[in-house]
Amino acid sequence: MIQADYATQAPQPPLVTCRAVGKTWDTDGAPFVALRDIDLDIARREFVVFLGPSGCGKSTLLYLLAGLEQLTQGQIVCGGAPVTRPGTDRGLVFQETSLFPWLTVGENVTFGLKMQHMPKDARRRVAEEILERVGLSEAIDKRPDQLSGGMRQRVAVGRALALKPEILLLDEPFGALDVQTRAKMQEFLTQVWQRSNVSMVFVTHDIDEAVSLADRIVVFTSRPGRIKSIIPVDLPRPRDSRSPGFHAMTDHLTDLLRDEVDRAFAEQERVR
Ligand code: ADP
Ligand code: MG
Repeated sequence: MIQADYATQAPQPPLVTCRAVGKTWDTDGAPFVALRDIDLDIARREFVVFLGPSGCGKSTLLYLLAGLEQLTQGQIVCGGAPVTRPGTDRGLVFQETSLFPWLTVGENVTFGLKMQHMPKDARRRVAEEILERVGLSEAIDKRPDQLSGGMRQRVAVGRALALKPEILLLDEPFGALDVQTRAKMQEFLTQVWQRSNVSMVFVTHDIDEAVSLADRIVVFTSRPGRIKSIIPVDLPRPRDSRSPGFHAMTDHLTDLLRDEVDRAFAEQERVR
């Protein structure tokens, strides 16, 4: 009996663990340390944002999580298995969507399932279900170039969800959109996340975007990227960017980042 109680109360293991993760690029024989000593757990259903100045290694860590690049120190485990290559448990969304222009929206969403030999009728049903989730049911037979930039990014999110990932990895997915569309997309992504069981890792250099989205914000130092601080965001959703709580968070993050941005800027100037 006591054991059963224990079982129900036992905390779930994290979905992702990063232990002492580092990445050194080998550029023309000269080692270039991009990331160092990254220790991070990501819970199931958690929304984690990576925030830091340009060049601090946010994308690098995301690609390591994706298995698109190989780490040079430490270990990353996802769902109990070491990450060594891309997998359908980890969906990807980039800033520039790479939708296939010759396929319809529905065909784009289920392209990965076609590769897995899912029959056409079943794919159509998945496309309908996913496009309803991302609010684009009407667009199923349209081509990508008939959609706005924001709609194309919703298709990209849908395409990533179609493979039933455990976690979505998003690299500045709204970075190319105008400010108003961006705010709408943040609401959209929050809703998609709340209605799903996926964890999210979202890369941005935008403090407001980080506070709008995150359960926890991982603040990076300038290069070589290390974790400077992990900030929980305990504000109710949907988040109001005009609320005092929101402003307190953005002020705190601005202070945390100021030194790092100065350092990153000085380094960029030196490189030139
Ligand atoms: P962020 O996404 O935070 O802007 P990145 O992860 O893209 O930063 O880059 C971190 C550092 O690693 C940068 O200095 C960048 O120039 C370097 N870098 C990124 N990709 C490569 C690569 N393929 N080869 C060598 N250096 C790289
Ligand atoms: Mg980047």
